[in-house]
Amino acid sequence: MADTSVIEISKKAVEGNIGFLREQLGGDVMITSVVKSNAYGHGMDAYVPLAEKAGIDHFSVFSACEARRLMKIKSPGTRIMIMGWLDDKDIEWAIMNEIEFFVFDILRLEKVISVYGDTGVPALVHIETETGMNRTGMNRQELRRAVDIILKNRRSVVLKGLCSHLAGAESIANHVRIQRQISRFLRLCKWFGEKGLVPEFRHVASSAGALTYPGARFDMVRMGILQYGYWPSAETFIQYIGRRKEKSDPLTRVISWKSRVMTIKKVKRGEFVSYGTIFLAQEDKKIAVIPVGYSHGYNRSLSNQGRVLINGQRVGVIGLVNMNMLIADVTQLPDVKTGDEVVLIGSQGELTISVASFSEFSNQLNYELLTRLPEAIPRQVVS
Ligand SMILES: *Cc1c(COP(=O)(O)O)cnc(C)c1O
Repeated sequence: MADTSVIEISKKAVEGNIGFLREQLGGDVMITSVVKSNAYGHGMDAYVPLAEKAGIDHFSVFSACEARRLMKIKSPGTRIMIMGWLDDKDIEWAIMNEIEFFVFDILRLEKVISVYGDTGVPALVHIETETGMNRTGMNRQELRRAVDIILKNRRSVVLKGLCSHLAGAESIANHVRIQRQISRFLRLCKWFGEKGLVPEFRHVASSAGALTYPGARFDMVRMGILQYGYWPSAETFIQYIGRRKEKSDPLTRVISWKSRVMTIKKVKRGEFVSYGTIFLAQEDKKIAVIPVGYSHGYNRSLSNQGRVLINGQRVGVIGLVNMNMLIADVTQLPDVKTGDEVVLIGSQGELTISVASFSEFSNQLNYELLTRLPEAIPRQVVS
């Protein structure tokens, strides 16, 4: 391979995960597949067609820029929702392209109304309500104004959704806060109904909320991390598995990350390896240099900590992770040679390195590690 590493995306894993989530949620709950941040590092181009084949026809992104990219990838009938950033001038673009988007303040709503004045095309809007997250979303007072504006301009807005975001459903420590958010949201739905405004979809849950709080599923869930085969937190997994007879993980990780041994060297006892003095060879060593470093998304905090798979064995990363290279201790591998496969994330033989174990070493969340995988690494779909 010409590139120093490759990221493999498993078609079978995508089908399995989406099938599992469908089964958990039942037929009445719409899944919007969240593919922001380059599909959590999986690569939008590789991931979106696979998700579509598995039955997804609604995707969510953070920004107009991501939506533009998704437009080129998705099938014609597939819908797009922008949950965050939209420049004023992109609002008209989104409306003209039938892209749904969140409206979380009056300024944006006024812009929508003014675009309608110019174009006569209504916006597909999800009104975001504040229920306790205190990030984006309109509070009671703002919602009252928003409702007035919508009622006065009934034609400019299609009320696609009424939504909110739960502030940490992946941890039981937030249980009271989450329950309060759900009740507030219910009251707001009722109040909208009384005003004659009934949204097509009510939604508040991301992965953790969708699995842990059936009462938070409403008409739609915004599914991110689970579809890629990762649990939002260990707690969410334990919660789920605690209710089952079958104790094995129903999800399969979609991503594998592979490289090759670039060269092999011997190091004498008493020598330091790589920059500085963080690794001292306490015996004669054989080392393998691997052409992946922190510029490729392999975190520096995995220096002297990380593990990789070579020749079906788990071996340690020694010394500092460099910009473009890392070094593994292969003293125990008699047959290792240049060009051998190195698994950074994924399986080789009997062994697996999960992003989770990877991030335990580096104190990074699955989310952060995945989304830091650079776009420049090629993605390859495997069956
Ligand atoms: C990222 C995001 C999600 C998906 O979160 P997961 O925990 O990955 O499922 C859902 N909703 C919003 C508003 C988001 O920003």
